[in-house]
Amino acid sequence: MERIGIYGGTFNPPHIGHIRAAEYAVQSLGLSKLLMIPSCISPHKRLPEDSPTPEQRMEMLKLAVGDNDKIEISDLELRRGSTSYTYETVEEVRKLYPNAEILLFMGTDMFLSFDSWKNPDQILQNAALAVFYRGDPGEISKIREKKAFFEEKGAAVYLAENPVTDISSTDLRRMLVFSCAESFLCPGVGAYIRQKGLYGTGKNYQNLSIEELESVVTALLKPNRVAHVLGCRRTAKELAELHGADPVDAQRAALLHDITKALDGGLQLTLCREYGIKLDDFSTNNPKTLHALTGSLVARRIFGENDAVVAAIESHTTGKADMNTLEKIIYVADYMEPNRDFPGVEQLRQLAWTDLTAALKMGLEMTLAMLKEQGREISPESQMALDFLSKKGVEIC
Ligand code: FE
Ligand code: FE
Repeated sequence: MERIGIYGGTFNPPHIGHIRAAEYAVQSLGLSKLLMIPSCISPHKRLPEDSPTPEQRMEMLKLAVGDNDKIEISDLELRRGSTSYTYETVEEVRKLYPNAEILLFMGTDMFLSFDSWKNPDQILQNAALAVFYRGDPGEISKIREKKAFFEEKGAAVYLAENPVTDISSTDLRRMLVFSCAESFLCPGVGAYIRQKGLYGTGKNYQNLSIEELESVVTALLKPNRVAHVLGCRRTAKELAELHGADPVDAQRAALLHDITKALDGGLQLTLCREYGIKLDDFSTNNPKTLHALTGSLVARRIFGENDAVVAAIESHTTGKADMNTLEKIIYVADYMEPNRDFPGVEQLRQLAWTDLTAALKMGLEMTLAMLKEQGREISPESQMALDFLSKKGVEIC
């Protein structure tokens, strides 16, 4: 019997993870054909504003798939228009292939929430489910449970371990703005995106006003980080006015200090590689702390910020020896902005208004104590920063 796969999604943009998963699906489940179907309006995901048109997503998907006679790109959901409900798609595919076994592909999140889709039983009458899962043991037991539940209802469920290291489309859109997405895109897709100026690639991010910078930055942050960054901006401005640093530089550095924080360790390393940066051992082993370095690189290369702003971003997590006023401000503002809440934060706040250097020392000491307690490695820069302040006789009183 013919076996037809359905792989739907927003594909915004399509990336190497989608294509490898598609190829793997064809191979591992012996599909006669896999239909990749871009959704028109997804019921699961609202597309970000100024996303490409559905036709552009379709074009990109065609480029990404290239010549593969087992994979067909279908405009079925785009032609239908409106919200793309899977039960309708599956019914249409069933009409096209009345005698085939139809496999509907999905990731684990979608599978685990399958009950909440529209008309799930109708889907199961026409198709088997094929779930791509990752090797996470916690996840596997949940998936097995759910599989057994559906099978009891008479449905067929296939599991395939997804061997692909994936990137989310959201992170890919960030990487596009930072000009380091190429390794995640199939040949031709990157050029298409740049040619059409999609995902902000056609925008000039240099010389933005502070208000423009704020709106670009907040769109790139994870939503739960926005309040922190805006808090930092306000605090950094106040500290700059009080301690005689440039309030504009302070606000720009504060806005950009966590610009790459959303990227995981692997993406941090990719960014460094794409920017031609060689890393020391500490950074390679602790890629999560890299967001200060990668943030500073993005601030310079993408946003065209000046040396003072770039340096303040670079030292904001670890500190360093002999920091200037702006660097101290960004370090301390990050620690004490109004959304921060931890034992000792009030003392640090009071200190910051009277003695910025003492506040910096307090922040460094607290960080190092916490890292030691957690048995984590301490960055050589932090140790040097603290040693420098101790030698200078800085005291917290
Ligand atoms: Fe940070
Ligand atoms: Fe921060």
